[in-house]
Amino acid sequence: MESAAHGLAYSIAWAWDSTVETTENRKKRMSTISGLHISGVTRDGHGPRRTLINPATGLEVAEVSEGSVADAQESVSAARGAFASWSGRTAGERSRILLRLADLIESHGEELSKMEVSDSGKPFTTFLEGEIPFAVDNLRFFAGAARSLEGSGAGILSSGYTSMLIRRPIGVVASIAPWNFPLVMAIWKMGPALAAGNTVVLKPAPATPQTSLRLAELAMEAGMPAGVFNVITGGADVGSALVTNKDVNMISLTGSAATGEFIMREAAKGTKRVHLELGGKAPAIVFADADIAAMAQALVMGSTYNSGQDCTAATRVYVEKSKFAEAVAALVETGAKVKWGDPLDRSTDIGPLISQEHRNRVHGFVTRAVEAGASVRLGGEIPDGQGAYYPPTVLVGMDQKSEIVQGEVFGPVLAVLPFDGEFSAIEQANDSAFGLASSVWTTDVARALRVTHQLDVGVTWINDHLPIASEAPHGGVKGSGFGKDMSQESLSEYTVTRHIMIKHAQTEANDSFRPA
Ligand code: NAD
Repeated sequence: MESAAHGLAYSIAWAWDSTVETTENRKKRMSTISGLHISGVTRDGHGPRRTLINPATGLEVAEVSEGSVADAQESVSAARGAFASWSGRTAGERSRILLRLADLIESHGEELSKMEVSDSGKPFTTFLEGEIPFAVDNLRFFAGAARSLEGSGAGILSSGYTSMLIRRPIGVVASIAPWNFPLVMAIWKMGPALAAGNTVVLKPAPATPQTSLRLAELAMEAGMPAGVFNVITGGADVGSALVTNKDVNMISLTGSAATGEFIMREAAKGTKRVHLELGGKAPAIVFADADIAAMAQALVMGSTYNSGQDCTAATRVYVEKSKFAEAVAALVETGAKVKWGDPLDRSTDIGPLISQEHRNRVHGFVTRAVEAGASVRLGGEIPDGQGAYYPPTVLVGMDQKSEIVQGEVFGPVLAVLPFDGEFSAIEQANDSAFGLASSVWTTDVARALRVTHQLDVGVTWINDHLPIASEAPHGGVKGSGFGKDMSQESLSEYTVTRHIMIKHAQTEANDSFRPA
């Protein structure tokens, strides 16, 4: 079957097929994936076989031979073995390899897009034209940042000694990634860690392993020495084996709060460095003087991009009372125009959620909110047909303390609440276990800054919601964790500052050397 999407004629039998399942169809469609890349070799894992399901069709598309606990230990040994040589290279040498890898990701964009779309259901065009260039830009930034790591100061800090401050890599980093942005998250994790001279074992989420495994192969093609970047697939047992391995020096997780807490507890036993990027529940505060149409455009986009499976997604919209009805109407009207459906259709805005199971979870939040008194102004129903689709949904009439306002739904669902006065808006926005992202909507600059300074979050957008840049740190506070991804800060987090002190003793006082 050929698709004409994007004017490309590529086979899509790997992902889409007849909606009528037959043994013959299944056989044709299924591929097998080797779930390990260790010491430069891609091979089968010794763990269970996991069937990957295309969330857009609900059909089985591949079987992965996942890693086992023993494979996890082997991957860590490989990374440990490669550390001395990799960390001993100059920043320039590491940078050149990462730059070559960025070029290869760019030139393999379509192949990577097919993999990611099949695993996650993301719209092909959005991924190819959005996430691929962004991942490439991120990696090029990390490659450059490797060469300008701060902390190389030298000076006489104590009489008779010269001190040098240098940054050194930490060692072996276990990087554990979620399913919502598989390739981008892999780059955010391996990029700064490798640039700073660490070696890495990356564990992608079980449902979305393909782009990470391919990334490891491309890294070899780029000249990465064997063992520097390893990938192991598997679930919590494999992740846990990495976390508890004594040869792992740092654990970097992007994932749920529950996994973050588990990792902190386990890391405490070996006093390992942890880098945690956890959930979010971003508020948007809309004042009466805001441009309501622009707000609706940005917040609908901000709540539905990637089907709302985004830790920075807009989820709670607080609108000043006098504009509440107008804002709700604008959000509903704009949300109704979002085109959800087939990820291969170029005009599709949002694809399915990651799985039927996750869709049931999202719908459960909406159902319970309605039972508790909320009313649905848009969406809120599971559509007919195959695929884990969920339409953009707008709810009103919730209590601030309700589950839908406090919990991380991770779907295209907006809860809209009124507020009365600046103080109350800030108080409600901060009333959350999470503190990752937020936005403030007003044409009053002084108020925008005043409110922004009082929000307990990692990022605030003023009159927009969602854009990010390689140079700016991304990360949260409170239950959203404390790691910073992207920016020079992320490289710093993958290093330790060392102090070297050289005794040179005092020069004897000699008046003849003094200027007259
Ligand atoms: P998750 O915590 O279930 O899984 C994340 C990763 O951790 C997966 O690879 C999983 O296999 C692994 N894992 C699970 N249990 C583990 C254990 N006991 N030991 C080691 N590894 C374990 O999260 P998820 O559902 O895959 O991802 C969605 C979550 O990620 C959401 O909460 C979302 O907000 C968060 N997220 C945060 C950011 C951010 O930048 N803050 C970005 C993307 C996603």
